[in-house]
Amino acid sequence: MRKNIVAGNWKMNNDLSETEELLGHLKLQMVKEPEATVMVAPSFTNLYPTFQALKNTPVIVAAQNMHESDKGAFTGEISASMLKSVGVNTVIIGHSERRAHFNETNEILAKKVDKAVENEMTAIFCFGEELEDRNNGSHFDLVEKQLKESLFHLAEGAWDNIILAYEPVWAIGTGETASPEQAQEMHKHVRELLAKNVSSKVAENTSILYGGSVKPNNAKEIFAKEDVDGGLIGGASLNAVDFTEIINSF
Ligand code: PGA
Repeated sequence: MRKNIVAGNWKMNNDLSETEELLGHLKLQMVKEPEATVMVAPSFTNLYPTFQALKNTPVIVAAQNMHESDKGAFTGEISASMLKSVGVNTVIIGHSERRAHFNETNEILAKKVDKAVENEMTAIFCFGEELEDRNNGSHFDLVEKQLKESLFHLAEGAWDNIILAYEPVWAIGTGETASPEQAQEMHKHVRELLAKNVSSKVAENTSILYGGSVKPNNAKEIFAKEDVDGGLIGGASLNAVDFTEIINSF
């Protein structure tokens, strides 16, 4: 059975003391056993303190990125084993900001996903179209290409380690959300692609999150859609009250 998941992507926000403050608020706000699996993704420098602070809670700590190589001369990069050594077994891969600002292609992302799977890590794989793709009607094909080129080579068993996050680029940080119907339509399309290209079991069991301007006032109706299994939350995850309200939206 697929899980309901709410993951907070803190992006490049919060230094150490701000992170500790946010974690303190979050621990106060959150119920002990939330209905959803909760994850937070701080910056690299804040991963270990966050892992320590959340040790006795059900919250999972995720990284926002990692390199596709094991180790070596890649100045500024972080490997899977480095993440695992500080208690981090989950990683966001292919966020649209990585694709846009750091030239991460479907091909590079396939390697990152492989590295995560090889290290028995969970990958939250992000994909989604730009406004132009939606306006010219190519959004379904574009998403199919992203999934095909980065994920459809995986063996069926590897899908236990994959969480999908549909994030239409035009809805990220813009305040403009996909309507619950638009999210459902794409999530259903993705599930059909999984059934066709992987297996019906994987299609049924893979969690597909929606991301893009999810807020306390719209989370409930988006999460209520049949093929939406939760959200990847940017801006609203930086506020403990808002994030907790989103977690409680199932
Ligand atoms: P947002 O970001 O909620 O601020 O739109 C979502 C994301 O980028 O994951």
